[in-house]
Amino acid sequence: MSADPHFQKVALIGIGLIGSSMAHAMRRKGLAAHIAGYARRTETLEKAEAIGFADSLHDNLATCVRDADLVVLATPVGTFGTLTQEMAPHLSKGAIISDVGSVKSAVVRDVGPHVPEGVHLIPAHPIAGTEQSGPEAGFAELFEGRWCILTPPPGADAAAVGKLRAFWEALGSNVDVMEPRHHDLVLAITSHVPHLIAYNIVGTADDLETVTQGEVIKYSAGGFRDFTRIAASDPTMWRDVFLNNREAVLEILQRFNEDLSALQRAIRWGDGDMLFNLFTRTRAIRRSIIDAGQDSAAPNFGRNPKKK
Ligand code: NAP
Repeated sequence: MSADPHFQKVALIGIGLIGSSMAHAMRRKGLAAHIAGYARRTETLEKAEAIGFADSLHDNLATCVRDADLVVLATPVGTFGTLTQEMAPHLSKGAIISDVGSVKSAVVRDVGPHVPEGVHLIPAHPIAGTEQSGPEAGFAELFEGRWCILTPPPGADAAAVGKLRAFWEALGSNVDVMEPRHHDLVLAITSHVPHLIAYNIVGTADDLETVTQGEVIKYSAGGFRDFTRIAASDPTMWRDVFLNNREAVLEILQRFNEDLSALQRAIRWGDGDMLFNLFTRTRAIRRSIIDAGQDSAAPNFGRNPKKK
């Protein structure tokens, strides 16, 4: 029998894309009797108030987490340690403290030492997102059919892990459990390095003097456009991801650079077979992603060219 996914009070520390999407989904599925949201800036709190996805909004951590049985850090990863230290004296015994951060070893390193006795730290990462940010960006369906990875520390309370798993399943996700280091390596190749490549290629195009910026924008449908979507992702969030997953990103980048050099050589020497074989392999990977329900098979990524 699966655990009860309901909480009395969920405190969302951060109410941007991920925090507000959790609030919308919790509301829709009735998973929390009270949703409390925290943000630093009045502007963010006012936007959240106008949308109405939370029962209470706070610019004070202590009041936000008071009596919460689930606290979720949903701010940039680099802020987790300080925020946890500040809220620690106000956490309730038996509460679960979790997060949605895109890296996991750094969460265990930064948050772990501040978690009081009797509070359960169960880090989590929903593999779901868009290039939008802020409280207006959230929507209830964000986590539907997506994976959420839990990285409980050794000896974590099994009931707390089971409850958090049931919660994410109720939000619509499939849940996997992993070691933090393995998570960071997997995400370095599937998400972090692809983002770095997108940031790099868009930066290179911006720096090119022989091609005007007008031409880059005019002819962007040739592939560049899809990189610009990724490269429009939040600068603070992504700065923190790279600073906090340095080891795994550098390891994957080393492999990436070697493979890129091999491609460069194949082009220089006219080795068409090498290029053709690689491109055939990569096309099959796209097919498996579609078969796994992680993207649409519609041509042009489902974009309708007639629509603006
Ligand atoms: P977001 O839309 O930019 O929202 C960030 C939230 O954190 C806002 O409420 C913001 O409000 C608050 N915040 C920012 N800096 C803060 C600080 N120094 N202290 C306290 N609060 C701060 O970000 P998001 O996309 O939801 O990302 C949140 C977390 O989810 C990140 O850790 C990210 O790694 C993870 N994640 C993101 C995605 C994605 O695709 N976006 C996917 C999975 C996981 P104020 O500025 O008013 O404080």
